[in-house]
Order: sequence, then C-alpha cells, then structure tokens
Amino acid sequence: MDIKKLNDWGLKRDVKRPMLIAGPCSAESEEQVLQTAHELAKNNKVDVYRAGIWKPRTRPNAFEGVGSRGLAWLRRVKQETRLPVCTEVANTTHVYEALKFGIDILWIGARTSANPFAMQEIADALKGIDIPVFVKNPITPDLDLWIGAIERIYNAGITRVGAIHRGFSNYEKTMYRNLPQWQIPIELKSRIPEIPILNDPSHIGGKSELIFDLSQQAMDLNFEGLMIETHLNPKSALSDARQQITPQQLSEVIGKLVIRKPMTDDQKVLNELEELRSKINILDEQLLVTLEQRMKIAEKIGVYKKKNNLTILQNKRWEDIIYSMIKKGKEKGISRLAINRIFKAIHQESINHQTEVMKKQGVK
Ligand code: PEP
Ligand code: MN
Repeated sequence: MDIKKLNDWGLKRDVKRPMLIAGPCSAESEEQVLQTAHELAKNNKVDVYRAGIWKPRTRPNAFEGVGSRGLAWLRRVKQETRLPVCTEVANTTHVYEALKFGIDILWIGARTSANPFAMQEIADALKGIDIPVFVKNPITPDLDLWIGAIERIYNAGITRVGAIHRGFSNYEKTMYRNLPQWQIPIELKSRIPEIPILNDPSHIGGKSELIFDLSQQAMDLNFEGLMIETHLNPKSALSDARQQITPQQLSEVIGKLVIRKPMTDDQKVLNELEELRSKINILDEQLLVTLEQRMKIAEKIGVYKKKNNLTILQNKRWEDIIYSMIKKGKEKGISRLAINRIFKAIHQESINHQTEVMKKQGVK
C-alpha cells in the first residue's frame, strides 16, 4: 500500500517526538471542550485535540454524545488554539457533518471497524476527500478484519491512513479493560510496514493509573504515537470517567516517558547485541531439537497406547506435568501464565502427533 508516512501528513508537529492526540472521551459542553483545549494547548507536546461527538455505547440509556452541535465547539477549538481537531465517525451522516465543520482528522471506533458494511459506507462517503483517517482495531482480536477496514479506507483513495491499537474485548475480568494482545498490532506492522500505528492506553487500561505503564510499553514497542483521554475533572466525566486523566497529569505522563531509539549505529553496542543474539539463536535451535525429540517419544507412546487400547488424553498425567512445571518454572523466574501457555502448546502438539499415529493404518 502506498500509505503516507506520519511525518508527511502535513501536520505541524515536532516529528522527532511521538504524535500525541489528547482530549476528552466525549464533548460534553462548549465550555468543557474549550477549556480543556486551552489547557492542553499550553503543553507543546499535544499535536491534535480529540473529542467524541457521537458516542457508541455498549448499553442503551448511557450518554450518547452531544451530536452535531458539538462540531461547532471543535471548530472554535481549532480557531482559538490552532490545534487540529479529530472526532469519531461511524456512518455517512457523521462523515458529512464532520467535513462540513472542518474537522481535520477522523477516527473510526472499535465497534465500527468490526463491521464491514459500516466500513464500506464510510469509505464510500470519503471517496475523493483528502483527510487523514485512523482506524481503531475491531473489538475482536481479528487482524484480518482490522486490515480489511484499513483497506476499505485506503481503497477510497485515502493515503493518510493510520491504525490505533485500543485493545480487545474479553469476557473474563482482567486488570485491563481491553486486553492489549500486543502481538496483534506487531503483526499488523509486519503485514503493512508502512502504516503508522498509535496506541490508546486509555481504552486498553480503563483506569487512569495504568496510562503511564501502557504508554511506556507502546513507546518501547516503537509505536508512533499515543491517543490519551484527558478531562478537566475526570470524576465528573459523562463517559469513561475511570480512565481519563487531567491535562496536568498528561503533562506528567508525557514528561516521564523514555523514548528509546529503534536502532543505533554505535558499532560497540551493535557488536554486543549481535553476540547476545547469536546466543539466543543457539538456544532456540536447542529448543527445537528438544521439541523434536519430545515429539518422537510422544509418537512412541502413541503406538503403545494404540496397542493397548488406551486413550490419548490422560488427564491425571497432564495435570501432574503442568503442576510440576509451574513449580519448577517459578524457581526459574518463569511465570505461571507463560508455563501454562508454553506447555499447553507443547501438549497440544504431542496430542496431534499421537492422533496421527492412531489414524495411521498398519500400526496396531
Ligand atoms: C473513544 O475513543 O472514545 C472510543 C469510543 O473508543 P473505542 O472505539 O476504542 O472504544
Ligand atoms: Mn472513551
């Protein structure tokens, strides 16, 4: 795809810093929108002002946004602070209204990017219009659906298209509101290397106290910017109160962030890295050989089980393995979660090998 680099989007910003979009979850009143914008504009690291005008709420009877009248407030923000403004659009009417009021950047929310009909409708409304668009990941951890949404926008002729990683819904309660599943945006970057990806720690964390750590993690994973919800008085916010931070707190978060370089040309550092990486490569090879040996033995066990008419899965044996590995893993500094994931994957692969043995003709 011929997507424009973020630095060529024509936004007036310091291109050496990550891009920062900040502003309230929702526009609530003209006063709130303007006061917040003036506070944020004092921080010269804020590049774009955000505010949701139409709010997609999970349950009915929640605050669903102020609607089109809020667009005039955003236009005032632009005139008074010179900050470009952005808002969420979810259908054709939103697109036309936003364009009419001179909104500079659009974003598409997680509930909309999950819906190809809505995405196509928005893409059709944008045909022939040159405006930057960010596509948030769909609520489900489906990379192709995310890519499909991006492609629809790109195919409408938009070359200033970016992605926003805002985490993925989960049925179980976790410390996050939406699981980060960092490997998904990382894979998006390897599938579409030219796409700028921002991170939205507010919707991932769901709590103001998680914003800094998530933002730092995003910077360490080389994300190109952040979208952070900011409210003058988060407690009184009409939506997403728990996750918003004040403009003052935003300055503190941004001031504390360590921005690391993705690469260096210092030969000494490069040599040391190279040496450590070659050690990792050797260990990975060893892991592979060990796995190969383990699978061969699993197959032999498969033959034995078949001969003696035993089931492949023997729960007790599997529970013993995982219990013992979690215990040993703890001593070696490997978390219970990692042990569970790694050994479940290994066990599944052994089962697959044994299933093949069971299916094979001639082995009795
Ligand atoms: C938002 O940015 O306020 C929003 C509704 O985000 P998401 O689509 O990620 O839930
Ligand atoms: Mn929000």
